Amino acid sequence: MVRPIIAGNWKMNKTVAESVDFAERLRSAYETPADREVIIAPPFTALRSVAEAIRGSSIILSAQNLHEAEKGAYTGEISGAMLREAGCTYVIVGHSERRTLFGEGDDRINLKLRSALTAGLMPIFCVGESLREREEGTMETVIERQLKEGLNNLTADDIGLVVIAYEPVWAIGTGKTASPDQAGEVHRLIREWIARRYDPKRAANLAILYGGSVTPKNIAELMAQPDINGALVGGASLEVDSFVRIIGY
Ligand code: PEP
Repeated sequence: MVRPIIAGNWKMNKTVAESVDFAERLRSAYETPADREVIIAPPFTALRSVAEAIRGSSIILSAQNLHEAEKGAYTGEISGAMLREAGCTYVIVGHSERRTLFGEGDDRINLKLRSALTAGLMPIFCVGESLREREEGTMETVIERQLKEGLNNLTADDIGLVVIAYEPVWAIGTGKTASPDQAGEVHRLIREWIARRYDPKRAANLAILYGGSVTPKNIAELMAQPDINGALVGGASLEVDSFVRIIGY
């Protein structure tokens, strides 16, 4: 049984003061039960302060992105080691907004995954098809390509440290959620692909999160799917109240 993970991706929202206030209120509003893991991914500027605010609690810190290089002349970028130092355990890699708005392709995402692992971070690796790809019937091919190229050169041990998030692009921030059956089917495909590429035990232990307009209303039915092990939540993770209701689904 994979321990459920609920992760909040704040994107480019919240100042340092707002982030700390959220973290403190989340901490007092909810005692994370041992059977689930709660992750928050504030913007870079707030990581260090949020790390302080959640110290001693079971809330875990994630970054939203990293640069693949260890260090150097990459103005405006942040390395995995810097994120570790700021208190991150996880980092989101390959989010569809990075793919579409910032031109990150599978090769780059692969470099970022490897760099995250080298830095001691656990990647939350996002995959997902666009509406056009789903309508054209290429969803499965697209997901398999993202997995194959994104995970290129990762060992079975590496996979033990990776969380996969299935986020259909058409469901992100749109209010449209994949139905539990639609999402469950893709999660099963992902798990089967990992079992073929690595081994069935790794696949069984892999946490696969669903992301795309998750709310307190739809979380329970999504979590009822056997291959859905948690959620990566955008909009509904920005308010303590709705995030707490999602965590406590
Ligand atoms: C996301 O950006 O990862 C996401 C799932 O966003 P939302 O929940 O707002 O659709």
